[in-house]
Amino acid sequence: MGRLTTLAGVREDAGMGAHGDLSWLEAITEQARGLGRPSREQALAVLAAEEDVLLDVVAAAARVRRAFFANRVKLNYLVNMKSGLCGEDCSYCSQRRGPSTGVLRYSWLDPEAAAKEAEMAAERGAKRVCLVASGRGPTERDLDRVSSTIAAVRARRPELEVCVCVGILGPGQAESLRCAGADAYNHNLNTAESRYGQICTTHGFSERVSTVRSAADAGLSPCSGVIVGMGETDEEIVDVAFRLRELEPESVPVNFLMPFPGTPLAGRNDLTPAKCLLVLAMFRFVFPDVEVRIAGGREMHLRSLQPLGLHIANSIFLGDYLTSEGAPAQDDLQMIADAGFVVEGPGESTLPPHRRPAVPALRRRGPGSELPSNA
Ligand code: SF4
Repeated sequence: MGRLTTLAGVREDAGMGAHGDLSWLEAITEQARGLGRPSREQALAVLAAEEDVLLDVVAAAARVRRAFFANRVKLNYLVNMKSGLCGEDCSYCSQRRGPSTGVLRYSWLDPEAAAKEAEMAAERGAKRVCLVASGRGPTERDLDRVSSTIAAVRARRPELEVCVCVGILGPGQAESLRCAGADAYNHNLNTAESRYGQICTTHGFSERVSTVRSAADAGLSPCSGVIVGMGETDEEIVDVAFRLRELEPESVPVNFLMPFPGTPLAGRNDLTPAKCLLVLAMFRFVFPDVEVRIAGGREMHLRSLQPLGLHIANSIFLGDYLTSEGAPAQDDLQMIADAGFVVEGPGESTLPPHRRPAVPALRRRGPGSELPSNA
């Protein structure tokens, strides 16, 4: 078996001994279980692990996952409120400007229609609904639409976590979303700052960073992750992981590139299931007690190794993605059960006790609001 990645000197830099000596992996695992973070060299060593230690790496990451998330899997559900029609040029995205990629195009789903989708997903076990809209960022009118949608979701399923993902936020917009009842905000960094200009020219990496920061400052749970498989090096994957770490996200979606026809990255397929597992493991070691979510591209790139991914990540999307179809929900639920995991319930906290907020969540439902009580 060959190397997954050749990285001169990585064994030595990471304190790796002779071939077959797994003490380096043991050291990273114990660090993570004690909430220590890997060094850059250690993170690179995980990404460069050879195929004959793949299962050792998975088992090590699984020990960290079990320590903080037991055998629970959190299910998330995407609702695409506005599809296609984007003026930005993100090269990985099937909703970008330019020639049609064949995705559904529509503008702003009716709030009730979005809420019905969320309700259906909740019935299948989804704990979080992610309300997403294409575009650079929201207008004030867009925020009103999102607020109405949050209210419609809450009226049907007050127990659902609501995450919003509507692009780059302007001043005060994160606060508006928080007041409207959003729990979380997603905005991915996607890739290393050094290569951001190669995947998008219409907005910059720093705008992404500041949006994640403003969401967190407004009291929204920050969700920010990556897309791998866009031609980046292992060093660049570590760069973005470490940059994300500075932003202290509470959930980290790891996407694997889906090379949609009609996009500049069409036809690109650099990933193997084994490499995807190593990427997930590296993120688990960098974010030991944070929700690591296997996001888009799970079915395409992990393929038959998806159950192994559950031993590393503690969260997945259920059903369809924004512009592509996922597996039937029943198949994913069966996979979770077969692999010995359970779906995380609405009354359970995703994050371990030391990460739960010390301040009480302000009531936004019941008397004095338009939302039903949580009775
Ligand atoms: S990722 Fe978002 S901003 Fe970029 S092209 Fe797609 S919808 Fe537009």
